[in-house]
Order: sequence, then structure tokens, then C-alpha cells
Amino acid sequence: MAVLKDLIRTIPDYPKKGILFRDVTTLLGNAEGLKEAIAQMAAPYLDLKVDAVAGIEARGFILGGAIADRLGCGFIPIRKKGKLPWKTIGQEYTLEYGVDVIEIHEDAIAPGQRVLIVDDLIATGGTAEAAVKLLRRSHGEIVGATFIIDLPDLGGLKLLKSHGIDCHALVAFEGH
Ligand code: AMP
Repeated sequence: MAVLKDLIRTIPDYPKKGILFRDVTTLLGNAEGLKEAIAQMAAPYLDLKVDAVAGIEARGFILGGAIADRLGCGFIPIRKKGKLPWKTIGQEYTLEYGVDVIEIHEDAIAPGQRVLIVDDLIATGGTAEAAVKLLRRSHGEIVGATFIIDLPDLGGLKLLKSHGIDCHALVAFEGH
């Protein structure tokens, strides 16, 4: 079986000095690794009646589409500002390196729909927390949040758990 952690490439000082960029493209490009990551990310939610997967741009789209297929549900994109074609609601958030806004279509979620959040990595949790706020403003019920990578030193999973979100990550890396 593929060891997922070994398939993730680490790039020092990208996109700026002091950041260890955890590059999942090497995992995504490995057939066995991709299959295993999707299976493990979906596993805790197979019997939890998920209505939709909400994937965060851009790597959350690749994983989220496949996980939605596994769970037999639809996919909803959460995108960077200005990318979605219909009416949107937006949420500002602080990244590990900057400030940004994510958006969702205002009619993407039906009230009470059970939604699973998907992204490749959780660092400070700012992006995922903004996704939680967007989905709750859309009257969705958040079933959980699933990631390949957690950076526990940055406290993202703790932040999400403080919002009452059930969280899963497949591997953890020390440091930033
Ligand atoms: P955060 O909002 O701090 O949890 O950052 C999470 C988002 O930023 C995810 O979409 C990641 O893809 C990206 N990101 C943050 N830090 C890193 C890192 N060290 N390596 C790779 N991606 C990162």
C-alpha cells in the first residue's frame, strides 16, 4: 500500500521564505496514492448521509469531486472572489500568507443540506473557518471537514473543532 506521507513533496521557502510548502501534486499524480487518499478521506463519512461535498479551490476540487462520487452525492465549489458566474455570498479570511475572500453561489445549498468540507491541507484553519461561516450562512448543516494534511503547530483543526466541526486529516507535518 502507498505510504501517503512519502508521496507528498516538501518545497522550502515557497511561496515565500520560511514556509515549507507541502506539495500534494506528487501524491495526486500517483495512481495508488490518489486512490488511497480518496478512500481514507471519504471513509468516516460513508454512512453519514452526506448530501454534498464542498471543495475549496483549487486542490479541494480535485479531491472533493472524487470524494463526492464515493459518497454518492453532489459537489459544490467554494471559489476565490470573482470566479463564480451566478450570485454569490463571500467571506473574508486570513491565510498563512495574506488575506483573501472565498465565495459560494447563494443558491448552492438547500436549507438543512448535510455538507462535508474538503481541502488538501489545513494550516491556521482560516480558510476552512471561512468555509464553515459561508455554509452556515447558507443554512447548510456541516457533517465534517476532511483534509490530507494537518499542520498541528498552526492549530487549524483545534480552531475548527471549537466551531463544533468533526475533523479528519490523514497525515501531519510538524512546523509551518
Ligand atoms: P489555512 O487557511 O492557514 O488553514 O491555509 C490552508 C490553505 O492554504 C489550503 O488551501 C492550503 O492549500 C494552503 N496552504 C497553507 N499553508 C500551506 C503549506 N505550508 N503548504 C501547502 N499549502 C498550504
